[in-house]
Amino acid sequence: MPVCTKKCGKNATLRRPKTGDTLCKECFFEAFENEIHFTITRAKLFKPGSAVAIGASGGKDSTVLAYVLKLLNEKYQYGLKLVLLSIDEGITGYRDDSLKTVEQNKNDYKMPLKVLSYKDLYGWTMDEIVKQIGRKNNCTFCGVFRRQALDRGAAHLKVDYLVTGHNADDIAETVLMNILRGDLARLKRCTSIITDNGDGIPRVKPLKYTYEKEIVMYAYFRKLIYFSTECVFAPNAYRGHARTLLKDLEKIDPSVIMNIIQSGIFTSNVLMYIIS
Ligand code: SF4
Repeated sequence: MPVCTKKCGKNATLRRPKTGDTLCKECFFEAFENEIHFTITRAKLFKPGSAVAIGASGGKDSTVLAYVLKLLNEKYQYGLKLVLLSIDEGITGYRDDSLKTVEQNKNDYKMPLKVLSYKDLYGWTMDEIVKQIGRKNNCTFCGVFRRQALDRGAAHLKVDYLVTGHNADDIAETVLMNILRGDLARLKRCTSIITDNGDGIPRVKPLKYTYEKEIVMYAYFRKLIYFSTECVFAPNAYRGHARTLLKDLEKIDPSVIMNIIQSGIFTSNVLMYIIS
């Protein structure tokens, strides 16, 4: 590896997937964290002193989000009160294990944790639902109820914001899926960094411009503990096709992820202009 391109004098240990820069670990951490700080401050995502619930699944995205938000909150004195909020869908062999990682996050990052279960909220688990309806469309069902469960959890915690770990790849995939389905009306919502369900608690995506590969790299070099097993009920073939297409395109040109997001934003703005 050549020397770090930030001219810190150290040898580079990695190549940034997003920019191609060769960096040492410390300069990568700084660049990664600064970009998220820039995203937060440029979009004025949080008011000082706010209470923020972090939607925590134990996976890489929410683990990195919790770690970086805590770090930035202390470094730049955002004045945020951070709390972890997890949803237990009742999926044996998946959520029961990933919740152990969230418990670990709670201890490592010294944040309070609230867990809400489908069983308590709705009277059934996803295991029971899949037994009844089978594996077809179970994710549509589960996704709708998880969004509602997160909203109810955020209201219960009386927080001002609910942040989620949606990253740039997730958003680009959703833009692609909406275009492939001809559902352009959904572009606005999926590309917005902040959305409101009408319940007064905005949902915020601080990792909107953060590449998935860099999240994995950051977690690896920071030695963060996260849960990486896929849900046992995860067919979702359509998103899988969009993901494969995106990954193939990213190999040719990494900027394709940002280009798709920007195209989604532009198209939704044009639509809004035409409608108004
Ligand atoms: Fe629910 Fe599907 Fe996600 Fe599993 S993969 S947690 S069933 S939405």
